[in-house]
Amino acid sequence: MNQPSFARRIQRVRHELLRHEVRVRDIQAISPGFLAITFTGESLSAFVSLSFDDHVKLILTDSAGLTHRRDFTPLRFKPESNELTLEFALHEAGAACQWARQAKVGDPAVIGGPRGSMVIPTDYAWHLLAGDASALPAIQRRLEEFPEGTHAQVLLHLPLSQDERNFRSKADLQLQWLATSEGLVNAIRQLQFPPGEGFVWCAGEATSMAQIRDILLLDKQLARDTVRVSAYWKSGAADFHEAKEQ
Ligand SMILES: Cc1cc2nc3c(=O)[nH]c(=O)nc-3n(C[C@H](O)[C@H](O)[C@H](O)COP(=O)(O)OP(=O)(O)OC[C@H]3O[C@@H](n4cnc5c(N)ncnc54)[C@H](O)[C@@H]3O)c2cc1C
Repeated sequence: MNQPSFARRIQRVRHELLRHEVRVRDIQAISPGFLAITFTGESLSAFVSLSFDDHVKLILTDSAGLTHRRDFTPLRFKPESNELTLEFALHEAGAACQWARQAKVGDPAVIGGPRGSMVIPTDYAWHLLAGDASALPAIQRRLEEFPEGTHAQVLLHLPLSQDERNFRSKADLQLQWLATSEGLVNAIRQLQFPPGEGFVWCAGEATSMAQIRDILLLDKQLARDTVRVSAYWKSGAADFHEAKEQ
Protein backbone atom coordinates (compact mmCIF):
# COMPACT_ATOMS: atom_id res chain seq x y z
CA MET A 1 0.00 0.00 0.00
CA ASN A 2 1.98 3.03 -1.21
CA GLN A 3 -0.70 5.63 -0.56
CA PRO A 4 -0.12 7.24 2.82
CA SER A 5 -3.45 9.02 2.90
CA PHE A 6 -3.25 11.87 5.34
CA ALA A 7 -6.93 12.46 4.58
CA ARG A 8 -7.76 9.47 6.70
CA ARG A 9 -6.00 11.20 9.56
CA ILE A 10 -7.84 14.49 9.17
CA GLN A 11 -10.23 14.37 12.08
CA ARG A 12 -13.58 16.09 12.05
CA VAL A 13 -14.67 16.54 15.65
CA ARG A 14 -18.17 17.77 16.57
CA HIS A 15 -18.60 19.82 19.73
CA GLU A 16 -21.68 20.49 21.80
CA LEU A 17 -22.84 23.93 20.66
CA LEU A 18 -22.31 26.25 23.62
CA ARG A 19 -23.20 29.92 24.04
CA HIS A 20 -20.79 31.89 26.14
CA GLU A 21 -21.84 35.16 27.76
CA VAL A 22 -18.63 37.19 27.82
CA ARG A 23 -17.28 40.65 28.49
CA VAL A 24 -14.41 42.51 26.89
CA ARG A 25 -11.35 42.09 29.10
CA ASP A 26 -8.67 43.76 27.00
CA ILE A 27 -8.25 45.61 23.70
CA GLN A 28 -4.93 45.79 21.86
CA ALA A 29 -4.31 47.79 18.70
CA ILE A 30 -1.86 45.48 16.96
CA SER A 31 -1.21 47.60 13.86
CA PRO A 32 -3.29 50.10 11.84
CA GLY A 33 -5.45 47.33 10.33
CA PHE A 34 -5.75 44.89 13.23
CA LEU A 35 -7.36 44.97 16.65
CA ALA A 36 -7.14 42.10 19.13
CA ILE A 37 -9.96 41.82 21.65
CA THR A 38 -9.78 39.46 24.61
CA PHE A 39 -13.05 38.26 26.11
CA THR A 40 -13.64 36.58 29.41
CA GLY A 41 -16.55 34.92 31.15
CA GLU A 42 -17.13 31.97 33.46
CA SER A 43 -18.86 29.92 30.79
CA LEU A 44 -15.62 29.93 28.79
CA SER A 45 -14.42 27.26 31.24
CA ALA A 46 -16.18 24.83 28.85
CA PHE A 47 -14.61 26.38 25.74
CA VAL A 48 -12.83 23.98 23.39
CA SER A 49 -11.03 24.79 20.14
CA LEU A 50 -8.98 22.00 18.59
CA SER A 51 -7.93 23.58 15.30
CA PHE A 52 -6.65 26.81 13.80
CA ASP A 53 -9.38 26.29 11.21
CA ASP A 54 -12.15 26.61 13.88
CA HIS A 55 -14.49 29.53 14.07
CA VAL A 56 -16.75 31.01 16.69
CA LYS A 57 -19.87 33.07 16.15
CA LEU A 58 -19.52 36.51 17.69
CA ILE A 59 -23.03 37.73 18.53
CA LEU A 60 -23.21 41.41 19.28
CA THR A 61 -25.73 44.19 19.64
CA ASP A 62 -25.10 47.50 17.93
CA SER A 63 -25.97 50.98 19.20
CA ALA A 64 -29.37 50.77 17.47
CA GLY A 65 -30.16 47.55 19.38
CA LEU A 66 -29.78 45.29 16.33
CA THR A 67 -28.16 41.88 16.75
CA HIS A 68 -25.40 40.74 14.37
CA ARG A 69 -23.61 37.40 14.08
CA ARG A 70 -20.20 37.11 12.47
CA ASP A 71 -17.53 34.40 12.26
CA PHE A 72 -14.09 34.79 13.85
CA THR A 73 -11.12 32.53 14.49
CA PRO A 74 -10.29 31.70 18.09
CA LEU A 75 -6.74 33.01 17.94
CA ARG A 76 -5.77 32.21 21.51
CA PHE A 77 -7.51 30.65 24.51
CA LYS A 78 -6.10 30.66 28.04
CA PRO A 79 -8.05 28.09 30.07
CA GLU A 80 -6.39 29.17 33.34
CA SER A 81 -8.05 32.60 33.09
CA ASN A 82 -10.96 31.81 30.70
CA GLU A 83 -9.63 34.36 28.24
CA LEU A 84 -10.39 34.09 24.55
CA THR A 85 -8.71 36.41 22.06
CA LEU A 86 -10.11 37.21 18.62
CA GLU A 87 -8.35 39.44 16.13
CA PHE A 88 -10.32 41.74 13.86
CA ALA A 89 -9.06 42.73 10.43
CA LEU A 90 -10.42 46.26 10.28
CA HIS A 91 -12.20 47.28 7.11
CA GLU A 92 -14.30 50.24 6.11
CA ALA A 93 -17.80 49.18 7.09
CA GLY A 94 -19.40 46.25 8.84
CA ALA A 95 -21.24 45.59 12.08
CA ALA A 96 -18.48 43.50 13.68
CA CYS A 97 -15.71 45.78 12.54
CA GLN A 98 -17.58 48.84 13.79
CA TRP A 99 -18.33 47.16 17.09
CA ALA A 100 -14.68 46.22 17.56
CA ARG A 101 -13.51 49.77 16.82
CA GLN A 102 -15.85 51.18 19.49
CA ALA A 103 -15.46 48.36 22.03
CA LYS A 104 -14.59 49.24 25.63
CA VAL A 105 -13.41 47.05 28.46
CA GLY A 106 -16.52 45.61 30.15
CA ASP A 107 -18.72 45.57 27.02
CA PRO A 108 -20.90 42.45 26.79
CA ALA A 109 -21.05 40.01 23.86
CA VAL A 110 -22.01 36.43 23.23
CA ILE A 111 -19.73 33.87 21.65
CA GLY A 112 -21.18 30.70 20.18
CA GLY A 113 -19.23 27.57 19.34
CA PRO A 114 -17.02 26.31 17.91
CA ARG A 115 -19.53 23.81 16.55
CA GLY A 116 -16.77 21.56 15.26
CA SER A 117 -13.08 21.27 14.47
CA MET A 118 -11.25 19.97 11.44
CA VAL A 119 -7.96 18.77 12.89
CA ILE A 120 -5.33 18.72 10.15
CA PRO A 121 -2.12 16.83 10.99
CA THR A 122 1.08 18.84 11.09
CA ASP A 123 3.39 16.12 9.75
CA TYR A 124 2.85 16.63 6.03
CA ALA A 125 6.07 17.04 4.03
CA TRP A 126 5.14 20.70 3.58
CA HIS A 127 2.36 23.20 4.24
CA LEU A 128 1.12 26.14 2.24
CA LEU A 129 -0.94 28.71 4.16
CA ALA A 130 -2.35 31.56 2.14
CA GLY A 131 -4.98 34.24 2.37
CA ASP A 132 -5.81 37.83 3.19
CA ALA A 133 -6.17 39.80 6.42
CA SER A 134 -9.24 37.82 7.51
CA ALA A 135 -7.14 34.63 7.40
CA LEU A 136 -4.19 36.09 9.29
CA PRO A 137 -5.44 35.03 12.76
CA ALA A 138 -5.88 31.41 11.62
CA ILE A 139 -2.50 31.40 9.90
CA GLN A 140 -0.83 32.94 12.94
CA ARG A 141 -2.37 30.31 15.23
CA ARG A 142 -1.28 27.50 12.89
CA LEU A 143 2.27 28.84 12.77
CA GLU A 144 2.39 29.08 16.56
CA GLU A 145 1.19 25.47 16.82
CA PHE A 146 3.56 23.91 14.28
CA PRO A 147 6.29 21.74 15.82
CA GLU A 148 9.96 22.06 14.94
CA GLY A 149 10.87 20.57 11.59
CA THR A 150 7.64 21.65 9.84
CA HIS A 151 8.14 23.25 6.44
CA ALA A 152 5.66 26.07 5.93
CA GLN A 153 5.24 28.54 3.14
CA VAL A 154 2.97 31.51 3.84
CA LEU A 155 1.53 33.90 1.27
CA LEU A 156 -0.42 36.77 2.78
CA HIS A 157 -2.20 39.58 1.03
CA LEU A 158 -2.34 42.73 3.18
CA PRO A 159 -3.15 46.07 1.56
CA LEU A 160 -1.13 47.99 4.20
CA SER A 161 2.57 47.22 4.55
CA GLN A 162 2.42 48.60 8.14
CA ASP A 163 0.32 45.55 9.04
CA GLU A 164 3.09 43.10 8.17
CA ARG A 165 4.38 41.34 11.28
CA ASN A 166 6.83 38.76 12.53
CA PHE A 167 5.25 35.44 13.42
CA ARG A 168 6.40 33.28 16.31
CA SER A 169 6.87 29.79 14.94
CA LYS A 170 9.08 26.76 15.35
CA ALA A 171 8.47 25.97 11.68
CA ASP A 172 10.98 26.45 8.96
CA LEU A 173 9.06 29.40 7.52
CA GLN A 174 9.09 31.03 4.11
CA LEU A 175 6.93 34.15 4.20
CA GLN A 176 5.83 36.43 1.38
CA TRP A 177 3.61 39.51 1.68
CA LEU A 178 1.48 40.51 -1.30
CA ALA A 179 0.01 44.00 -1.70
CA THR A 180 -2.97 42.99 -3.86
CA SER A 181 -5.39 40.08 -4.23
CA GLU A 182 -4.20 39.64 -7.84
CA GLY A 183 -0.67 39.38 -6.48
CA LEU A 184 -1.78 36.60 -4.14
CA VAL A 185 -3.53 34.68 -6.92
CA ASN A 186 -0.51 35.07 -9.22
CA ALA A 187 1.92 33.98 -6.53
CA ILE A 188 -0.10 30.79 -6.10
CA ARG A 189 -0.22 30.28 -9.86
CA GLN A 190 3.59 30.49 -10.01
CA LEU A 191 4.28 28.10 -7.14
CA GLN A 192 6.31 24.96 -7.65
CA PHE A 193 5.42 22.60 -4.83
CA PRO A 194 8.18 20.75 -2.99
CA PRO A 195 8.32 16.94 -3.20
CA GLY A 196 6.20 14.82 -0.90
CA GLU A 197 2.57 15.18 0.14
CA GLY A 198 1.67 18.61 1.41
CA PHE A 199 -1.44 20.34 2.68
CA VAL A 200 -2.74 23.63 1.32
CA TRP A 201 -4.96 25.85 3.43
CA CYS A 202 -6.28 29.14 2.03
CA ALA A 203 -8.94 31.58 3.17
CA GLY A 204 -10.07 35.06 2.24
CA GLU A 205 -12.27 36.94 -0.19
CA ALA A 206 -14.70 34.72 -2.12
CA THR A 207 -13.75 35.65 -5.71
CA SER A 208 -10.02 35.28 -5.05
CA MET A 209 -10.61 32.00 -3.25
CA ALA A 210 -12.62 30.63 -6.20
CA GLN A 211 -9.69 31.46 -8.50
CA ILE A 212 -7.19 29.90 -6.11
CA ARG A 213 -9.30 26.75 -5.74
CA ASP A 214 -9.33 26.34 -9.55
CA ILE A 215 -5.57 26.87 -9.80
CA LEU A 216 -4.86 24.30 -7.10
CA LEU A 217 -7.33 21.63 -8.17
CA LEU A 218 -7.53 22.07 -11.95
CA ASP A 219 -4.19 23.55 -13.04
CA LYS A 220 -1.93 22.04 -10.41
CA GLN A 221 -4.00 18.88 -10.01
CA LEU A 222 -3.54 18.67 -6.25
CA ALA A 223 -5.58 15.94 -4.57
CA ARG A 224 -8.86 17.36 -3.28
CA ASP A 225 -8.31 15.94 0.21
CA THR A 226 -5.04 17.85 0.61
CA VAL A 227 -6.57 21.23 -0.17
CA ARG A 228 -8.90 23.39 1.90
CA VAL A 229 -9.93 26.74 0.44
CA SER A 230 -12.57 28.78 2.27
CA ALA A 231 -14.34 32.01 1.40
CA TYR A 232 -14.29 34.07 4.60
CA TRP A 233 -16.03 37.16 3.16
CA LYS A 234 -17.28 38.46 -0.17
CA SER A 235 -16.63 41.87 -1.61
CA GLY A 236 -19.86 43.93 -1.52
CA ALA A 237 -21.82 41.40 0.59
CA ALA A 238 -22.56 41.90 4.29
CA ASP A 239 -22.87 38.84 6.54
CA PHE A 240 -21.66 36.56 3.76
CA HIS A 241 -21.71 32.78 4.17
CA GLU A 242 -20.11 30.37 1.78
CA ALA A 243 -22.85 28.21 0.29
CA LYS A 244 -21.17 24.86 0.54
CA GLU A 245 -18.29 23.37 2.50
CA GLN A 246 -15.59 21.83 0.34
C1 LIG B 1 -14.44 30.54 9.40
C2 LIG B 1 -14.21 32.03 9.39
C3 LIG B 1 -13.25 32.59 10.22
C4 LIG B 1 -13.01 33.98 10.17
N1 LIG B 1 -12.08 34.52 11.00
C5 LIG B 1 -11.86 35.86 10.98
C6 LIG B 1 -10.93 36.47 11.90
O1 LIG B 1 -10.36 35.81 12.77
N2 LIG B 1 -10.73 37.80 11.79
C7 LIG B 1 -11.38 38.58 10.86
O2 LIG B 1 -11.16 39.78 10.82
N3 LIG B 1 -12.28 38.03 10.01
C8 LIG B 1 -12.54 36.71 10.07
N4 LIG B 1 -13.47 36.16 9.22
C9 LIG B 1 -14.13 37.03 8.26
C10 LIG B 1 -15.29 37.81 8.90
O3 LIG B 1 -16.27 36.91 9.38
C11 LIG B 1 -15.90 38.71 7.81
O4 LIG B 1 -14.94 39.61 7.35
C12 LIG B 1 -17.15 39.44 8.26
O5 LIG B 1 -17.83 39.85 7.10
C13 LIG B 1 -16.86 40.65 9.12
O6 LIG B 1 -18.09 41.17 9.53
P1 LIG B 1 -18.44 42.72 9.47
O7 LIG B 1 -19.71 42.85 10.24
O8 LIG B 1 -17.26 43.52 9.91
O9 LIG B 1 -18.67 43.01 7.94
P2 LIG B 1 -20.01 42.69 7.09
O10 LIG B 1 -21.17 43.39 7.67
O11 LIG B 1 -20.12 41.19 6.95
O12 LIG B 1 -19.65 43.31 5.68
C14 LIG B 1 -19.76 44.72 5.44
C15 LIG B 1 -18.95 45.11 4.21
O13 LIG B 1 -17.57 44.90 4.50
C16 LIG B 1 -16.97 44.04 3.53
N5 LIG B 1 -16.02 43.16 4.25
C17 LIG B 1 -16.29 42.13 5.10
N6 LIG B 1 -15.16 41.58 5.56
C18 LIG B 1 -14.14 42.26 4.99
C19 LIG B 1 -12.72 42.17 5.08
N7 LIG B 1 -12.10 41.25 5.84
N8 LIG B 1 -11.98 43.05 4.37
C20 LIG B 1 -12.55 44.01 3.57
N9 LIG B 1 -13.90 44.14 3.45
C21 LIG B 1 -14.67 43.28 4.16
C22 LIG B 1 -18.12 43.26 2.92
O14 LIG B 1 -17.84 42.88 1.59
C23 LIG B 1 -19.27 44.25 2.99
O15 LIG B 1 -19.23 45.10 1.86
C24 LIG B 1 -13.74 34.79 9.27
C25 LIG B 1 -14.73 34.21 8.46
C26 LIG B 1 -14.96 32.85 8.52
C27 LIG B 1 -16.03 32.25 7.63
